[in-house]
Amino acid sequence: DGPAGSGKSTIAKALANDYKILYLDTGAMYRACALKALEKKIDITNETEVEELIRALSLEVKYENGTQKTIVDGADVSDAIRAPEISMAASTVSRYPFVRLKMAEKQREIASDMSCVLDGRDIGTFVLPTADFKFFLTASPEVRAERRKRELESKGYTVDFEQLKEEIVRRDQQDMNRAIAPLKQAEDAILIDTSAMTIEEVLQAIKKKIQEKIRCPKPMKR
Ligand code: C5P
Repeated sequence: DGPAGSGKSTIAKALANDYKILYLDTGAMYRACALKALEKKIDITNETEVEELIRALSLEVKYENGTQKTIVDGADVSDAIRAPEISMAASTVSRYPFVRLKMAEKQREIASDMSCVLDGRDIGTFVLPTADFKFFLTASPEVRAERRKRELESKGYTVDFEQLKEEIVRRDQQDMNRAIAPLKQAEDAILIDTSAMTIEEVLQAIKKKIQEKIRCPKPMKR
């Protein structure tokens, strides 16, 4: 778990690849809900309208050559959900309990079947509170905005750094302050500030913690 641009998806993907287990990007699911709402031109601040739309929505997560594909009502929206305007809209629709419960149910269903790495905001606190290993990644807003800028530019979008930074901070606020399953570090999650770390350093730090925990598991509670 962690805020936007903290390095979650890069790290989660690499970990899943190294451990040969599944990677699940849960943000993609909220993005898919937002995309559908925008396409249908419904008012995303109207909870009832969003709920009706999402109730009828068919959302599937598939894997093609190990890459997650997000399918909405039969259409592959994996690229479309990365458009910059989807980020804030995803945060808005993800506030609604109906949306969250439907997505969390799907995430638990996928995770119940196999070992996996989930990347999100509420995995350690709400979706899988008994997960074996929990990490909360963070970084300064400047570093996170810089990473998002590079990511968006690599996909061909033109973005303004200051505007992006402001939006990231606003999105964090909205994610941290919602009533249900907010963005929050689980009490038993390990915090890693990735601001000054390379991807490789973060990966090694996480793997070390995992090894330590495997070697010295906590005694079972009686
Ligand atoms: O991780 P990503 O930036 O793709 O997530 C988009 C939005 O989806 C987040 O800002 C957040 O509002 C929502 N989200 C969430 N819970 C998750 C994953 C994402 O609320 N587990």
